[in-house]
Amino acid sequence: MESALSASAPPAREPRPIRLAGLPLALMGGGLVGACVWAGYAAGGGPGGALVGLPVSPLLAPLVAIAISGLAGFLAIGLCWHRARRMSGAALSAEELLEEIAHAGAEFVWEADAAGRLTVLSDGFERSVDMPPETALGRTWIEILGHGLADPAQRTIAMAVAGRRSFRDVEASLVPSDGQGRALRLIGQPKFVDGGTFAGFRGVAVDISDIVKARERLGFVDRHDELTGLLNRVGCMRLLAARLRRGRRRDEQPVLLVIDIDRFRDVNEAFGAAAGDNVIRQVAERIRVCARESDTVGRIGGGEFFLLRPHALPFDPVLDLTRRLERSLAEPFSVPEESLRISCHIGLYEIAADDRDPEICLRRAQVAISRGRRDGRSTHLFMDGMDLEARTMRRLEEDLREAIDENRLALAYQPQLALRSGRFVGAEALLRWHHHDHGFISPTRFIPVAERTGLVVPLSRWVLRQACVDSRRLGDLRVSVNLSPIDLASPDFVAAVQETLAQTGTDPGRLELEITEGVLIEDTEATVDVLMQLKRLGLRIALDDFGTGYAGLGYLQMFPFDKLKIDQSIIRRSGRSRHAGAIVRSVVALAHELGLEACAEGVESREQLELLRDEGCDLVQGFYAGQPMPANQMRGVVDRQTALLASDDA
Ligand code: C2E
Ligand code: MG
Ligand code: MG
Repeated sequence: MESALSASAPPAREPRPIRLAGLPLALMGGGLVGACVWAGYAAGGGPGGALVGLPVSPLLAPLVAIAISGLAGFLAIGLCWHRARRMSGAALSAEELLEEIAHAGAEFVWEADAAGRLTVLSDGFERSVDMPPETALGRTWIEILGHGLADPAQRTIAMAVAGRRSFRDVEASLVPSDGQGRALRLIGQPKFVDGGTFAGFRGVAVDISDIVKARERLGFVDRHDELTGLLNRVGCMRLLAARLRRGRRRDEQPVLLVIDIDRFRDVNEAFGAAAGDNVIRQVAERIRVCARESDTVGRIGGGEFFLLRPHALPFDPVLDLTRRLERSLAEPFSVPEESLRISCHIGLYEIAADDRDPEICLRRAQVAISRGRRDGRSTHLFMDGMDLEARTMRRLEEDLREAIDENRLALAYQPQLALRSGRFVGAEALLRWHHHDHGFISPTRFIPVAERTGLVVPLSRWVLRQACVDSRRLGDLRVSVNLSPIDLASPDFVAAVQETLAQTGTDPGRLELEITEGVLIEDTEATVDVLMQLKRLGLRIALDDFGTGYAGLGYLQMFPFDKLKIDQSIIRRSGRSRHAGAIVRSVVALAHELGLEACAEGVESREQLELLRDEGCDLVQGFYAGQPMPANQMRGVVDRQTALLASDDA
């Protein structure tokens, strides 16, 4: 690296480089192929910055720009990563490579096992993260960094672990005990040994605090959001910090609201970035209209907005505000040629007199959102103790892991009734977990935890195997199994399904896989490919919870579905609406138009069932037709029905 630099040293009259940074360009599995080196020059000089070795990561661009502006001081450390490639005849061992990277400017290096749990941490870890390595080893980045990782960053890591893919540009913000906010960038690559066996991950962490500060200082990130003209995250945090510094008068009750558009990323991917931008502008405008003049509104992330109300006593007007926000955001949005509906969650945090840290206030409003999501409430107020949530999640994960190992999970089967024949034709497998201390825990609570930790992959495999085994006891019933998006991203999913079918001797035509709309929008091409492979094995695919997301007609046509499951919220709404028939009729017609079977979920009454029958719905599932029950009980129900129908025929 030294020689590379001297080869491009600036002419004598140019300012001297004041700081150098460089990194080797490495191919995974070994061999260095070059180096990326850059330098900044002292203030007062002309353009500065020597760059040797390519390619230059886009993350370096602003740094080079800083150098060109002639600013003195430390500039940057970044990493140019070559695409993961397995190489034979590696020039360097894994350890040597890590050494190289460590010396080239990374804060610390790390390795993790196949589940993303850390196995190796180099020296700089404790200093950077303010945590002893012993505490961190055996845990995942998501567990260690928690709220320091924004939701998209957590998702990037979870998807990378499930898909054995590299990840980069994952930024984490840390508030160590010295109170000095710090930012880290995590970069990880899958690790392959013995000619291609996947063995986990390895990567580096780069301290980008200076970059973040420099970006702010030099206006790389303005305080305003370009798209909406509102304050951006930096602007919001500054304003909040200033507000906290000023202290609180006795008669004031400042309240912070975070408004999070549900699954905004899906909107972007389903309708395109331009439509997504359009929606964001409209959301911003609606929030602005709902806010008072003394409120501050900002946009702190993709679909996440900030509203600070400085005086909120008595508390009722805030609830009035959240109601107005919800109502306003529930109105349809116009994107070219379509009318789109979104939903949102709102988190509230009442700022206390001794609050000093704006990030903590923001995080508390976000924690309230998570709690609201979990409890099925669109608005939630942060309350003391919710910080414990993260710890509770961790315990939940440990207990779930143990429950899987000790085979303490069970499946319940809920029958699906064919309306034309009046026969049970299928059953959905639903996971049941009886926790030794807490009793029944709903899958809506533990599946998201399992998704975040990657535990969902072994969990789904267990469900699949058990459902195949049970299917032998369920007569002719077709068995449906729920999948998570993470399952479809896992590279050996199709092979695992194939193996399970073979080992349990299950007829693939008896098995149906249920996926939700979120999956469709994740990575369309790859998802279609996986679903086609499953179809070729002879399995059926059902789209679950239709009507809760954004799957437009175009999406439905692209995917090889056999069945559309109409979400229970539609069935519930249909009972209250004067247009009950019309709503159900149009969804059923849509399914039939696409050649799909229509199945209504959450049918709880005779009236609902009759309405669905009148509108031509094929199947119903719900408490009215049958509660979820153990496989052997399900078998009894089917046998009794068969006997009843046989006696009717006679
Ligand atoms: P889902 O796939 O839409 O399953 C239907 C849910 O509705 C089940 O809740 C079921 O018990 C409930 N339900 C059935 N009939 C009625 C009714 O008439 N009224 C009402 N109010 N509810 C009814 P459950 O078992 O709590 O499961 C919730 C969700 O958890 C499932 O929604 C599914 O998304 C997920 N889940 C369950 N088991 C698994 C699994 O093995 N793997 C994965 N990935 N997800 C699962
Ligand atoms: Mg389902
Ligand atoms: Mg469903």
